[in-house]
Amino acid sequence: MSQVIARADADSMPSVTTERGERAVFCGLTSIIWLHRRIQDAFFLVVGSRTCAHLLQSAAGVMIFAEPRFATAILGERDLAGMADCHEELDRVVSELLERRPDIRRLFLVGSCPSEVIKLDLANAATRLQGVHENRLRISAFSGSGIETTFTQGEDQCLASMVPDLPAAPEESQRLMVVGTIADIIEDQFRRHFAQLGITDVDFFPAARADNLPSVGPGTRVILAQPYVSDTVSALVKRGAKLISAPYPLGIEGTLAWFQAAAAEWGHSPESVQEALAIPIARAQKSLAKARESLQGRTLHFLPDSQLELPLARFLRDECGMSLIEVATPFLDQTLMAEELKRLGSEVSIVEGSDLDSALARVRASRPDLTVCGMGIANPLEAEGLRTKWSIELIFTPIQGFDQVADLAGLFARPLTRERQLEVGSWS
Ligand code: SF4
Repeated sequence: MSQVIARADADSMPSVTTERGERAVFCGLTSIIWLHRRIQDAFFLVVGSRTCAHLLQSAAGVMIFAEPRFATAILGERDLAGMADCHEELDRVVSELLERRPDIRRLFLVGSCPSEVIKLDLANAATRLQGVHENRLRISAFSGSGIETTFTQGEDQCLASMVPDLPAAPEESQRLMVVGTIADIIEDQFRRHFAQLGITDVDFFPAARADNLPSVGPGTRVILAQPYVSDTVSALVKRGAKLISAPYPLGIEGTLAWFQAAAAEWGHSPESVQEALAIPIARAQKSLAKARESLQGRTLHFLPDSQLELPLARFLRDECGMSLIEVATPFLDQTLMAEELKRLGSEVSIVEGSDLDSALARVRASRPDLTVCGMGIANPLEAEGLRTKWSIELIFTPIQGFDQVADLAGLFARPLTRERQLEVGSWS
């Protein structure tokens, strides 16, 4: 069922249609896969069922054999005799874990779907356990339940659970906080670019080390590296931080505008930022030219999945010459997407939410050259001769910033060039 709910008053904004229905998106537990890579001394203890353990082990199979930093405390029937028993069991599992792993500096208790787990107040359990293990590490809880979260919302919940632990910043100190998980290599590049602009008071949240918590207060300027952190932003704003409105650092234009928005807070003009970053911009333009050849003029449909859809659509249309048929996103936060909506303009049709059957019917009717979607949907579409790109790959791959522009375009070009090779192969 769908309904047009908002046509932004400015004629230049996209129309937004909402859909409610079935969705096929990974649950928030999936975010542990990239969060545990980023926060290197954190441990994620999922309080869940065998299904949850299976999801994590199959999704992150390789990791489990290396140095596992996540586990599942499975609450069986026996544990459910009473809530008191559940809490005792959890305390026992945590104590054993911390004894075995003195290197853990942050423990996340991660909630899941089973009704017994939902009844268990993990936030309270985290507070209780924090009292027991006071100076050793920080403990917080968040939900990764598929009933409450999609995979990118899992990260939002995780970061929001850390906000109360951030130290208070002195009133007068103006610092920049970049929010959203990015690869270490991107952090290094961004730090270099900020330094070229003379901005050195920069924190990244989350940081690579759990103890490295940025301070927050009225002098904090927050800029987002990822668009799916609504609850984290609300929690930071409540602590006095100011959100900088910017597009996302995807593509050359997005990245430049992102740096310009941040630097404006330090009094730099857009022109001076462009000048200071001229070398990486020129390098990115050169590297993008080749990938663009395979994308130019091809049609694209986004099914709702990662919440990265709007900035990616803007990049692929404006910098790669693709033609957008539909851009769907599971949730649309108008504030966090304000700059992207402006850039997309009135010609784009945006769908918020998901009604899988009708979305697939539209894909089948328009037969786009490329459909960006979840893994579960990709196979059936491929079987029907449609080319797909898994949106979850865009979370695992470093795609932000100037130096990654060609890689980002390449992720979309690959399924199309593979198709051409197959066509050529079948003719020869
Ligand atoms: Fe566990 Fe629920 Fe995710 Fe399934 S959807 S893996 S039960 S949290």
